[in-house]
Amino acid sequence: MPKNLVVVGVQWGDEGKGKVVDALAEHFDIVARYQGGANAGHTVVVGENKFVLQLLPSGVLRPQKVAVIGNGVVVDPEALLNEVEAIGKLGIEVGDRLLVSDRAHLILPYHRAHEAAAEAARGAGKIGTTAKGIGPAYEDKAGRRGLRTCDLREPEIFRRKCAGVLAEKNRLASAVFGGGTLDEGDLVDRYYEIARRIVPYLTNVSAYLNHAIDGGKCVLFEGAQGTLLDMDHGTFPFVTSSSAAAGGAATGTGVGPTRLGTVMGVSKAYTTRVGSGPFPTEAAGPDADKIRERGSEFGAVTGRPRRCGWFDVVAARYSARLNGLSALAITKLDILDHLAEIPVGVEYEIDGQPIAEFPAEIEVLERVRVRYQVVPGWQRSTFGLHEWAELPQKARDYLHFLADQVGTEIAMVSTGPGRDQTIWLGNSSVVISP
Ligand code: GDP
Repeated sequence: MPKNLVVVGVQWGDEGKGKVVDALAEHFDIVARYQGGANAGHTVVVGENKFVLQLLPSGVLRPQKVAVIGNGVVVDPEALLNEVEAIGKLGIEVGDRLLVSDRAHLILPYHRAHEAAAEAARGAGKIGTTAKGIGPAYEDKAGRRGLRTCDLREPEIFRRKCAGVLAEKNRLASAVFGGGTLDEGDLVDRYYEIARRIVPYLTNVSAYLNHAIDGGKCVLFEGAQGTLLDMDHGTFPFVTSSSAAAGGAATGTGVGPTRLGTVMGVSKAYTTRVGSGPFPTEAAGPDADKIRERGSEFGAVTGRPRRCGWFDVVAARYSARLNGLSALAITKLDILDHLAEIPVGVEYEIDGQPIAEFPAEIEVLERVRVRYQVVPGWQRSTFGLHEWAELPQKARDYLHFLADQVGTEIAMVSTGPGRDQTIWLGNSSVVISP
């Protein structure tokens, strides 16, 4: 078993990382999230219960594990408290198993208001954000005007910093967006109460994790979103505002790159994308509709139908290199059970010429022609299988084909949403036997 492991989405998010992390969490002591905000929308099924975790690391569902929110995450304190309360009602107490970085930036009400106003003003050019204030909070972080969780420790410091930023935000809101303004007194009063409840969770996460690793504990680093939504390496500007790729695990928790261990990339057996932006292997018509219906491809947070298409080898290879993947987890294999033939995008061409690399410009990515290789389907149910040998030969061939094309071995195959609907491959360098 590896000491530490980073789990990262290989595609545009929604790869089923929540399920993979939940299935892996039993082998680790600590699960740490390193980027994103309360827009992750991990759906995890435990027995009869279905949880949608937006901010809490998926490991929180296992009673003995410590769940850590790293400094790379932007924390909406109200959303965090609501989530803690919601899972509490379902019988899961986080207590002192939850640690939040005292260096994480805060999402405050003006971030949500700003994002909603800015998105409305874009009209037809909408980015399709979840309007939870995540983008604006990261903007304030980069603009060095953000407030951090540690600022909640001292009410007077919070009031002073908040007043300064809010005055500027209110001027912006009325001058640029013609929107309403927020009252400083109301906001600060409300946050005194919120601070009282959040401060006990705060800690120096970098110190905590490094000491834990020194003491022999294993950490699973959990990415939200996916590599193709990474702010630096994704399909900019249709990206998220943080470092979703594996490198973000180091900056987003304060654990140095040499201590991160191995990296497992999670990919669906096909591809989906939410919202706008290029998607070369997107399928149209009944094929896409059927995958959407069988895979319940609707946003866990927004309910928006996801765009569906075929596995994209060029994008996966790009992602494998960016993340330095040690292995792949392929999810939702069962969703393809009905197909007689499965196209796999193996090469991009531009003006009749193959291109070797995933292009930087979205204008080029939008124009690429994908060359497909059609692989026979297995047309038998794989739902819930947990042994490699039980898979139909053609399903195994399909998985081998993907691994060969991407150049990364497969360590795990998911055949259903439940924890045990999982096939572990013992020959992998990321050997994790249940
Ligand atoms: P995440 O954000 O990457 O965790 O992905 P989501 O939670 O948004 O989407 C994954 C969805 O697929 C969830 O509803 C999971 O319960 C479900 N799921 C995950 N793995 C499998 C699988 O192998 N088969 C099936 N049928 N559903 C799966």
